[in-house]
Amino acid sequence: MTDCLFCRMVAGEIPADVVHETERIFAFRDINPQAPTHVLVIPKEHHPTAAALAAADPTLLGEVVAAAHAVALQEGLATGDGAEPGYRLVTNTGPQAGQTVHHVHLHVLGGRPMGWPPG
Ligand code: AMP
Ligand code: ZN
Repeated sequence: MTDCLFCRMVAGEIPADVVHETERIFAFRDINPQAPTHVLVIPKEHHPTAAALAAADPTLLGEVVAAAHAVALQEGLATGDGAEPGYRLVTNTGPQAGQTVHHVHLHVLGGRPMGWPPG
C-alpha cells in the first residue's frame, strides 16, 4: 500500500533504523521510544491488525512473534538462562488502544521495569 507508512519503510522510501530483517519480516527502532529498547516488528506484507493477519496467514503471525523474540535475544532482554530481564510485546488495535499506524506491528519493549496494568 503506497499510502502506508510502514509499507513505505519496507520499500526503502522512508528511512528506518533496522535491527532485524528476513524475507518476510522487518524490525526497526521506534522513532519515539517508550523504553530503553523499543522496536517495532512487522510483516513486510500489509495487514491492518493482528486479527486480520491471524485470519489471512497464521504462519506469518507466528513468524512475527518469533522475530520479536529474536530481537529480544539480540537486545539482551531474553537470554534463555532463566536470568533474563524479560520484555513486553504490545499490539494496539483500534483508536481506544492507541493504534495510529494501520499496518500490524508488535512493539517489543524492555530495559526498564514495566508496571501492570498499563495506563
Ligand atoms: P501504534 O500507536 O501502536 O500504531 O504504534 C505506531 C508506532 O509507530 C508509534 O510508537 C510511533 O512512535 C511509531 N512510528 C511512527 N513513525 C515512525 C517512523 N518513521 N519510524 C519509526 N517509528 C515510527
Ligand atoms: Zn502497510
